[in-house]
Amino acid sequence: MVYINDNFTRLPETYLFSEIAKRVQAFKNEHPEAQIIRMGIGDVTLPLPKTVIEAMHKAVDEMATGATFKGYGPEQGYSFLIDKIIEHDYKALGVELATNEVFVSDGAKSDTGNIGDILSKDNIIAVTDPVYPVYIDTNVMGGRAGELLTNGKWSNIVYLPCTAENGFIPSLPTEKVSVVYLCFPNNPTGTTLTKSQLKEWVDYAIANKVLLLFDAAYEAFITEKDVPHSIYEIEGAKQVAIEFRSYSKTAGFTGTRCSYTVVPKECKGYLKTGESVSMNPLWNRRQTTKFNGTPYIIQRGAEAIYTEEGKKEVQDMINHYMENARIIRTSLQQAGYETYGGINAPYIWLKVPKGYTSWSFFDKLLTEKHIVTTPGVGFGPSGEGYIRLTAFGSKTQTIEAMTRITS
Ligand code: PLP
Repeated sequence: MVYINDNFTRLPETYLFSEIAKRVQAFKNEHPEAQIIRMGIGDVTLPLPKTVIEAMHKAVDEMATGATFKGYGPEQGYSFLIDKIIEHDYKALGVELATNEVFVSDGAKSDTGNIGDILSKDNIIAVTDPVYPVYIDTNVMGGRAGELLTNGKWSNIVYLPCTAENGFIPSLPTEKVSVVYLCFPNNPTGTTLTKSQLKEWVDYAIANKVLLLFDAAYEAFITEKDVPHSIYEIEGAKQVAIEFRSYSKTAGFTGTRCSYTVVPKECKGYLKTGESVSMNPLWNRRQTTKFNGTPYIIQRGAEAIYTEEGKKEVQDMINHYMENARIIRTSLQQAGYETYGGINAPYIWLKVPKGYTSWSFFDKLLTEKHIVTTPGVGFGPSGEGYIRLTAFGSKTQTIEAMTRITS
């Protein structure tokens, strides 16, 4: 008889997006004429930059002749891309990294999910709440979450609420935890930590031998000076932090798939004996065993982002989305809504008016304004009372949506 990993049976249905789709479909069936605007999606809409496409075309041609054909590449990524990452994404911030501390991958979703492979089942995990659901679900699969409680929380996971009341700044855990997932700029709230706020986390992690899993998938959207682009801008962070980055939202790679993870050699975990072990060789072993590298063509495309022209094109894309974010934020605020985020992230987190829940306000916007959003409670218990709007649409649709909401 074959036994399954019964942790999978503990996972509830991925209710959020299927429930949204169900409600939208039901509304469309009744009102086929309605022009629905989708502001719930977390996917980009602009095409890949021209320089990226050209680089990929060139790489495709290389695959066509024996002299330049590429088979398996290095599992960790080609050095032509890793060198660019180190120079442009880190050296520019004053952070030094070695080539073998950067691991190119096929997505921050994969890596934030897979990192659990190198962590003991006995770790106590903490997450900010609301949260990118991958952090929780992969820990359920890994047997670290315990039981799902009626309040929507898992019994063995420590939740760090981020709400308007605490300015979306998670408090340091009061109980003992081993691993903390931090995502800044944050999905779904669009809020950030300043350097001094992040320093408190790094200091805490050093003092308590805690590992910080820092998801910086949205760092390219940062506009404010005091917001760190990398956790390694904070002194000592290399000892306690693994950083995840992605080209998905930055450069339109959601369908193309390329990301990277930084695992500094200084970053340590511990054996039960108390002996310290560098995380870097563990992740290297995990990747070389279970992953055969991001395609050459895709890595050549990612490399092109670091050319002068590529940088400009990427910045134009980000400016486009952030202009949408500004329109959403200012329109809603002028109409008297309480909103957060949208300054350093393409997400706007709206506090629903009194008397509504996340879902009832979602329904109101759908049925009265024909706008699809994402109910905040779908990201965790502390998301109740909020909805998320995204800035990934077109400018015309964004303006139209705001006119509808504020009229
Ligand atoms: N991390 C966060 C916080 C995200 O919001 C997302 C995507 O929405 C990802 C990671 C996944 O990124 P990727 O496309 O690189 O897998």
